[in-house]
Amino acid sequence: MKIRPRINRWTAARRKLINSSSIAHSLVQPHFVVDGEGVDVEINSMPGISLQSVDVLVQTIADDMAMGISNHMLFPIVDPSLKDSAATVASHTHMPLHNAVRELKSKFGGDIVIMTDVCLCTATDHGHCGIVHNQALDNDLTLPVLSQIALSHAEAGADYIAASDMMDGRIGAIRDSFEQAGHTDTGILSYSVKYASSFYGPFRDAASSSPSFGDRATHQMDVTSGYSEAIFEATNDVAEGADIIMVKPALAYMDVVREVANAIHRPVAVYNVSGEYSMVMTSAEDESSRKNMVTEIFHGFKRAGADIIVSYHTREAVRLQWFQ
Ligand SMILES: [Zn+2]
Repeated sequence: MKIRPRINRWTAARRKLINSSSIAHSLVQPHFVVDGEGVDVEINSMPGISLQSVDVLVQTIADDMAMGISNHMLFPIVDPSLKDSAATVASHTHMPLHNAVRELKSKFGGDIVIMTDVCLCTATDHGHCGIVHNQALDNDLTLPVLSQIALSHAEAGADYIAASDMMDGRIGAIRDSFEQAGHTDTGILSYSVKYASSFYGPFRDAASSSPSFGDRATHQMDVTSGYSEAIFEATNDVAEGADIIMVKPALAYMDVVREVANAIHRPVAVYNVSGEYSMVMTSAEDESSRKNMVTEIFHGFKRAGADIIVSYHTREAVRLQWFQ
């Protein structure tokens, strides 16, 4: 079975995230998980966003939960000494990300939505999003590795795995592996429409995931491409079993969000990426101007058709009650 509509209704927190018309309920806070203990290092180019070890992260998310932030996206940051050409450690069940998911799920159960990033690039020594063969990214060799990483996140208890790689056929491959393992309630958020954008710079500094050679132009979408390709990608992923469709970045592609939202019948998410965050953080002079800018941007996302907004502004927006 490929399509499981009940996944988006499985817990109270998932239903709130997807169905609520409130902007505050639509927000997802991203986090970066590192190895160690007591680690809390702010990322230079992303004020307010830190690399955190599991103990600090769990406390941060507990504080977020108390303020009303129920939706969290976790990115693993892998120690360079553990990286190899096949991203082997990414599916090890006792990596910091897996430990964090297990701990958070046992603490918050169905009251939290945890999304976990699934890609190879944070754990490959060459920084590419897949298996490299003859100096090129091999799509079909990458699929089983992605499925294994996704499966390890599902086993840890993730609500949604977030497939950010853009390989062909990976949603179907991951769904099949979930079905075989009996993970019929784990959702798949697909980065279906992800552009080879120049707005990802600060994130790549944080994740140390820039490719050591070449670029991502053979899998991510061309920034000049039209609506047909976006709708084709989104429609294929829905057919393969995606539960949420993501458009990334957000600000320069709000027209694409509208076209995709019109074309498919699954929730649409936008990723308000690190470069967009930096633009606001460097140009807004104080909290009040940040609030005005973020309010304008988030209403724009909603108007464009976004059901879910992944944004580094989430914590401040919810804490200071910029939205109801
Ligand atoms: Zn990647």
